[in-house]
Amino acid sequence: MALQTDKPVETTQTLYNPLSSPQTPWRIEDSEALYRIQGWGDPYFSINAAGHVLVSPQGERGGSLDLYELVQELRQRNLNLPLLIRFSDILADRIERLNACFARAIARYNYPGEYRGVYPVKCNQHRHLVESVVKFGKPYQFGLEAGSKPELMIALATLEPALHQNLTSKATLLICNGYKDRDYIETALLSTRLGHTPVIVIEQLSELAIALELSQTLDIAPILGVRAKLSAKGAGHWGESTGDRAKFGLTIPEILQVVTQLKSAGMLDCLQLLHFHIGSQIASISTIKDAIREASQIYVELVKLGANMQYLDVGGGLAVDYDGSKTNFYASKNYNMQNYANDIVAEVQEACEERQVAAPTLVSESGRAIASHQGVLIFDILGASYPALQYPEITSSKENLVIRNLRDTYATITPENYQEAYHDAVQFKEEAISLFNFGYLSLQERAIAEQLYWVCCEKILHITRQQDYVSDDLADLEKNMTAIYYANLSIFQSAPDAWALDQLFPIMPIHRLTEEPTERAILADLTCDSDGKINKFIDLRDIKDSLELHPLQLGPHHTRAPYYLGMFLVGAYQEIMGNLHNLFGDTNVVHIKMTPQGYQVESIVKGDTISEVLHYTQYKPDDLIETVRRRTEQALQEQRITLEEAQRLLSNYEQTLTHYTYLSGAC
Ligand SMILES: *Cc1c(COP(=O)(O)O)cnc(C)c1O
Repeated sequence: MALQTDKPVETTQTLYNPLSSPQTPWRIEDSEALYRIQGWGDPYFSINAAGHVLVSPQGERGGSLDLYELVQELRQRNLNLPLLIRFSDILADRIERLNACFARAIARYNYPGEYRGVYPVKCNQHRHLVESVVKFGKPYQFGLEAGSKPELMIALATLEPALHQNLTSKATLLICNGYKDRDYIETALLSTRLGHTPVIVIEQLSELAIALELSQTLDIAPILGVRAKLSAKGAGHWGESTGDRAKFGLTIPEILQVVTQLKSAGMLDCLQLLHFHIGSQIASISTIKDAIREASQIYVELVKLGANMQYLDVGGGLAVDYDGSKTNFYASKNYNMQNYANDIVAEVQEACEERQVAAPTLVSESGRAIASHQGVLIFDILGASYPALQYPEITSSKENLVIRNLRDTYATITPENYQEAYHDAVQFKEEAISLFNFGYLSLQERAIAEQLYWVCCEKILHITRQQDYVSDDLADLEKNMTAIYYANLSIFQSAPDAWALDQLFPIMPIHRLTEEPTERAILADLTCDSDGKINKFIDLRDIKDSLELHPLQLGPHHTRAPYYLGMFLVGAYQEIMGNLHNLFGDTNVVHIKMTPQGYQVESIVKGDTISEVLHYTQYKPDDLIETVRRRTEQALQEQRITLEEAQRLLSNYEQTLTHYTYLSGAC
């Protein structure tokens, strides 16, 4: 499409905007409704009177801070964008809420058992985060779940072992999932000696034999679990986690084999936990209920078979409402945390009562629901490009027919003939291009034809936006006319699921929310990959193809005034799945904690420098510098470069290696 890149910011946009009506000025409420901030952000994110996003990390119970001002202050500390901000108080609040929901459900149904949650480390393994989870989870004896050997290493060092075995209360759990080899199992078993309570969840029959053998040589009675492949199906992107051909877990015949083997070893009392995980982001509560019902029956059957069952672990799946629609759309969920806890408690209670089986300690492994909200990615917009919307003056008395036709089309567009006019404009533009290809139209003439085509489109769009119904053949018009805003981030690094799974994250400006956002844009990232863009945005119904944004403004001294966008709910999975596409590295991360006076920067984790990302790809920065130095010497000898230029080139080269991989913002 004919795009005029880097449009000077002072040019006012002529794009018609349906949202604007001169009678009623834009209000903060309009921004709230447009970006649906209450739907996905409540109680942590809202808009203040200044038109900035306000963060209330403790919900209604604590103070708030102005996100825009926070970003300004962080930039003064030399923290460049993109910047990932983690609000530790939000993390604490999520853990508290989850435990409170289960406590309420347990009280409500008079459930005779307890709840012991664990945090699945794979969701976000970063040290500060896992350490915070452990710290905030302590009052609830919230444990950790490891899905691999490296995660087990993290869990063992981060979780505090119980120094004095407290026999009246169940321990903080360390759930060991994932594929396990000898080392994994032996390390987990030995950690019992330190005071940990590892549960080795058998996912493959072969793991059982190793566990039994090691427990005998070490003389440590293991706590074993089995992961069941349920037939209840998850849905959405992660729905393949269950069913007979699922990657993980044991089928019912295999579970029975485990029981038989344990029985013949005289160790059936070691089998204490039943686990399942039907997938992440389960949008529909009925799916969850089906799974719990099936798992509860397996649980009571295992009790009847003589296993010493203590725990029912319902895995992850508790969803996050990314679009705020409260529906079973994949980016949403049709239930809240309390409904989730209620349904689990009620279903298990019913199954156990019916079969007169002692109620298990309930375990859940919620990752997304705990870690998503605390992470906010802030990035700036570096520039924008718009369709060329300038009516070209007549410069010659003998314009080509096709150009004259386009001028006529433009002049005669009316609400009565706009559809026909659109087809004419498309046809004339195509004609102009084929004339150009055959050498009958100059480059200047082709430019005029394209400009005329775009102004026709704009005029037609103006009309279609006032219609209740737009026919399919005009549907692309709106899409073609959206602006492209260039974002200082890499989607592959910071929001990989937006690229890989079309996951939606709420995105909105964090300031200027008292102003009407008159532009419609998609976002393009810094990578040279055509997939490096975001062109799907949350909407109440389905999704929208463009985002309403503000026109870019000039700052002092002809700089561009910063325009900051926030991508919210990115605390789960995105960071660790991110990759080095185009060698854009980890972003800067700050941890913010509320204090009675305001806030405190708890820790700063600097993002990768260029030197570091080059290291990951096996380049040695010193060698690179040396090579370039030798080449400048050579060029100096041959007088192809001056000494001053050579020095400048080398110092740029060396300096750049120490820089952040992203661009340095407003220019
Ligand atoms: C990924 C995973 C989880 C976490 O799922 P969420 O949907 O993020 O809560 C829990 N348990 C297991 C076994 C997992 O693989």
